[in-house]
Amino acid sequence: MPAPKPDPSVDQDQFLSILSREEALTRFEAALFPRELPREARRLADALGCALADDVVAPIDVPPFDRSNVDGFAVRSADLATASEAAPVRLMLNDETIACGTAPARPVLSGTATAIATGGPVPRGADAVVMVEHTQPAGNRAIEVRRAASPGQFISYAGSDIARGESLLRAGTIIGSREIGMCAACGIADVEVTRRPRVAILSTGDELVQPGQPLRPAAIYDTNGAIVTAAITENGGDAAFLGAVADDEGELEAAMRKALAESDMLVLSGGTSKGAGDVSHRIISRLGRPGIIAHGVALKPGKPLCLAVCDGKPVIILPGFPTSAMFTFHDMIVPVLRRMAGLPPRPDAKVNAKVPVRIASELGRTEFVMVSLVEGERGLIAYPSGKGSGAITSFAQADGFLKIDALADQMPAGSDVEVTLFTPHVRVPDLVIVGSHCTGLDLVTAPLARAGLSVRSIAVGSLGGLAAARRGECDFAPIHLFDEKTETYNTPYLAEGLELVPGWRRMQGIVFRAGDIRFEGLSAEEAVRAALADPACIMVNRNQGAGTRILIDRLLEGMRPDGYWNQPRSHNAVAAAVAQHRADWGMTIAPVAAASGLGFIPFAEEHYDFALVTARKQRSAVQAFLDALASEEGRAALTKAGFRPA
Ligand code: AMP
Ligand code: MG
Repeated sequence: MPAPKPDPSVDQDQFLSILSREEALTRFEAALFPRELPREARRLADALGCALADDVVAPIDVPPFDRSNVDGFAVRSADLATASEAAPVRLMLNDETIACGTAPARPVLSGTATAIATGGPVPRGADAVVMVEHTQPAGNRAIEVRRAASPGQFISYAGSDIARGESLLRAGTIIGSREIGMCAACGIADVEVTRRPRVAILSTGDELVQPGQPLRPAAIYDTNGAIVTAAITENGGDAAFLGAVADDEGELEAAMRKALAESDMLVLSGGTSKGAGDVSHRIISRLGRPGIIAHGVALKPGKPLCLAVCDGKPVIILPGFPTSAMFTFHDMIVPVLRRMAGLPPRPDAKVNAKVPVRIASELGRTEFVMVSLVEGERGLIAYPSGKGSGAITSFAQADGFLKIDALADQMPAGSDVEVTLFTPHVRVPDLVIVGSHCTGLDLVTAPLARAGLSVRSIAVGSLGGLAAARRGECDFAPIHLFDEKTETYNTPYLAEGLELVPGWRRMQGIVFRAGDIRFEGLSAEEAVRAALADPACIMVNRNQGAGTRILIDRLLEGMRPDGYWNQPRSHNAVAAAVAQHRADWGMTIAPVAAASGLGFIPFAEEHYDFALVTARKQRSAVQAFLDALASEEGRAALTKAGFRPA
């Protein structure tokens, strides 16, 4: 019997009307702008990072007078027209020395000079300064000058740096140390800036515990509170995190009302899916007009996003999953927040890159794809690195995200894309490893990290890694590919420009819970036969393309027992499924089985080696990796973890 179709009326109730990303953003901005931005006067020293509310007009000339740029003598250039080494010109010294901060008292008349220090005001009559090095004392109160001087020589004229009445800085400029210096030079002590919007942040959910507190069973740590608060500060907001509130309508309404009364904007996360206990969107309709602008946006992930305006203040409910919350925050909320803060869009928060692989996408929703950036031969390459909307750890390797248009059902390999950075700063890694993942990799790269080298490893499987290596997108591609014809590992798969660096051997085998009498004491072939003979026995498989999957299929000889379609992508997931009784057997590598305390039946030893891009061999990070791989320390760590270094 085919699976029942989802009832469209249930869907309707979930999200009454789903807006496109563009429509939602347009309506949200129309409800908020134009608006008067609140402003405040700030002492110069406290204005760092603020946006100027007005143009700053220079109130004085800088420098305020014609100023000497050197230590020497103020002169009339016409007196020195014939001066040379051979025929120095003698000038009488006036009876004063103009130090910094000293106003001159006497004019420089023809045939005279006045001693002047760097920064001293040029006296009346003088039109040039000669350096002390080009003069020598000549008897009583006179000097000889050995060079001619052009008019204006070594003088900075009044207003030559900044002219009075000139627009020094434009409204909207973000105040940095340079801007502070310019204001200080003009004597400006206070500036009018756009007041940072006060943004209150609330997390919602019965399951949330704040970091630092012990975790109850079935509870999780509040990730959104911390990450949203920091991202608001990064984008010009004055963030106040108010903690997590339980899914209780009364409690939440009180918290939202209090937060909104004290701030210009309210950002919540979670509780927007209209599931049981999800109440925040209902409360919003009571907080002010016009209320909800969009609830349900055609985003993937991020559909539950709720945008509202309550009496002029934006109220946003971000989706609960942290990655969904970050995509929607950076894409839809940051532009609004920056406008409210008087800040321009951050140009450095977007970079251009190419995607090396085709990315499938759902038609009808704007899709966000997390990416890791690496340096290619012609600019940046953006590798998709998402693990699904719930995975916070993918942030660690991700630099930002790209968007696939709602009207596209895929993004072809080689497309040019714009990547929105989570933090506006591209960190191009020193060493890039793209291919099959192994827990042994971390053991070998540990000393590199300690030496300050950043390592990025992107798991795309052996074949994906080889393709990346051929395109010159990585230094190494870890591979474990068996060639049936030659009955050897890896070498037959090398293409031109790649060379093999032996890695280590790892034993693949059957895992089961220790003590399971169906498997104890059997060989791998016998164990699989025993599993197939027991209809209650459930397996866990591996994904297509994994080296492990080839071994499993070899053992199963075409059989498809219960659990065959459960195909996780990692060695650890197989061990977890067996350890947690979701499956009874699977295939994984010995070190992972041992770490999970599972029984293990060895089956085949694999060669996990590295395809090195020869053109990159001389790079210092590559050499550091090769050294670490060959080192006593590296080999000992691998052996201890159950691998056999080559
Ligand atoms: P919800 O929209 O409240 O149903 O949440 C969707 C998912 O996101 C659930 O798995 C929540 O546990 C999770 N979630 C919600 N809020 C947070 C948060 N502040 N930190 C981490 N996960 C959260
Ligand atoms: Mg919730």
